Amino acid sequence: MTATPATPEPLTLTARIGQMFPTLTPAQVERIARQGRRRAVRRGEVLFEAGTGNVPFFVVATGQVEIVQPSGAAETLIAVHGPGQFTGEVQMLSGRRALVLARVSEAGEVIELDRARLLALVQIDSELSEIILRAFILRRVELIAHGFGDVVLIGSNHCAGTLRVKEFLTRNGHPYAFIDLDHEADVQELLDRFQVSTADVPVLICRGDVVLRNPSNQQIAECLGFNATIDPAQLRDLVIVGAGPAGLAAAVYAASEGLDVLVIETSAPGGQAGSSSKIENYLGFPTGISGQALAARAYTQAQKFGAQAVIAQSATRLDCERKPYTVEIGAGVQVPTRTVIIATGAEYRKPSIENLTRFEGAGVYYGATFMEAQLCAGEEVIVVGGGNSAGQAAVFLAQTTRRVHILVRSDGLAESMSRYLIRRIEENPAIILRTQTEIIALEGDNHLEGVRWRDRQTGNSETHAIRHVFLMTGAAPNTQWLDGRVVRDAHGFIKTGSDLSRDELSAAHWPLGRAPHLLETSVPGVFAAGDVRAGNIKRVASAVGEGSITVSFIHQVLHE
Ligand SMILES: Cc1cc2nc3c(=O)[nH]c(=O)nc-3n(C[C@H](O)[C@H](O)[C@H](O)COP(=O)(O)OP(=O)(O)OC[C@H]3O[C@@H](n4cnc5c(N)ncnc54)[C@H](O)[C@@H]3O)c2cc1C
Repeated sequence: MTATPATPEPLTLTARIGQMFPTLTPAQVERIARQGRRRAVRRGEVLFEAGTGNVPFFVVATGQVEIVQPSGAAETLIAVHGPGQFTGEVQMLSGRRALVLARVSEAGEVIELDRARLLALVQIDSELSEIILRAFILRRVELIAHGFGDVVLIGSNHCAGTLRVKEFLTRNGHPYAFIDLDHEADVQELLDRFQVSTADVPVLICRGDVVLRNPSNQQIAECLGFNATIDPAQLRDLVIVGAGPAGLAAAVYAASEGLDVLVIETSAPGGQAGSSSKIENYLGFPTGISGQALAARAYTQAQKFGAQAVIAQSATRLDCERKPYTVEIGAGVQVPTRTVIIATGAEYRKPSIENLTRFEGAGVYYGATFMEAQLCAGEEVIVVGGGNSAGQAAVFLAQTTRRVHILVRSDGLAESMSRYLIRRIEENPAIILRTQTEIIALEGDNHLEGVRWRDRQTGNSETHAIRHVFLMTGAAPNTQWLDGRVVRDAHGFIKTGSDLSRDELSAAHWPLGRAPHLLETSVPGVFAAGDVRAGNIKRVASAVGEGSITVSFIHQVLHE
């Protein structure tokens, strides 16, 4: 039986071995030594065990330290650090449990720094910060590539639960090995050893002993020690709800400017952007960047500056009747805070088509910009929806595509669609309006190749070789948990700044002489940024921009 790494082995990494295991110059080692303590170590001494949280950072001054992954009685050697080299990977920034064991293989001297001193070092020494953080990130990528984690997932790629767990581990950048029940004949022996049946899948075996049967994301996060304990007595400067691009940008700026920040995230850092296979329009990445990579870097950056995060837990309530405000997490933990940023984003309304997510970004799109138009130039496309955004998309796409089919489930375009759009659709021979029609299946391997739709009146269905579908059925904000605490628009998006009318502010008992700041909600010191905000442009860059500028207003509020 073989446990395969979760992702294929990257070919580029061997070329980056020098960056993954750099040797520091004597001057650099000396700068680190000033922050830590030197101590002699003897051969065989364990510097830290796998599974331990908050492990220290070690630089080898003389001698050698080996890094191994223990697996039962066996061990896999991962690296050997000589003089000038250092231990650690990204888990060191968050204080999560170590995935490997470090042991002295040749007696000598090490320089030891606790986590707080390491964080201080990477914040003040930009040269060392670059070397250390790059090595940490590359080492984590390597661990993921080889499945060198503390987790084995047993499941089937045809099981929704397995796919959920895979996505959760992947999007949280946690390495795991996967045993595929569909291909491993002798897996039964392993299941018997842990007394689990195939009905229990997906099964997660953590650190070789804890067995989780079809665990929730929260159970996985707890078992793997993703979250440090929250001290309910600690008054935070800022609680950020949501770790999409807006929340992560706010966390980076706020933590780097010295604020005590806690980020709460239901699922995994990155939000909607994290699920994008390639973001091609984000400034500074001319060849594009995957949402996962962007999110992982941003999350590391926030942790580098000391932001704390709670993963796989939702904010369930905001109490802003009195100061300090409190944000309730999950089942009852109350976090007191002086200010709040709501960055919970929005969810696109999605038709219930089984394999829809597989084609997101690969034939299924939620926006029709110049970029998407280029992808389908000269081809036939489908726009789903009868509102203004669907109408605009259809008219825009008709300029460069061969044919646009507008699919609506009702009898016609929405009454809310602007007259000028309806006229342009009617007058454009390249646009075909199909009422009472809905998509029932998507086909293809790596890219969408065919679409099956059904006439709701006749029940007849037909398949068309169409490779591009634009879902323009609107987005719903994640604001239900706020229970009306802040003023929202008719669609539930949070109103901020000058969008709040005098009447709305007086109905919300706005208590201050000043008007709300840009991005401030109807409650002083509570801000909204990104897709969750009324009037926001739904783009990664605007979410990042809003998250970052909010922090300057937070400073003003904290000094009020
Ligand atoms: C498939 C796809 C591809 C895209 N591609 C692009 C692109 O190429 N370029 C581009 O500019 N834009 C793209 N977008 C749009 C872009 O991703 C969004 O505009 C952006 O992610 C919005 O960021 P945000 O932080 O405001 O919200 P989100 O990204 O939605 O993040 C919100 C976060 O809040 C969390 N959350 C929600 N409720 C709670 C709660 N109660 N407690 C705790 N956490 C909570 C969610 O889990 C989520 O992680 C794409 C969107 C999708 C879906």
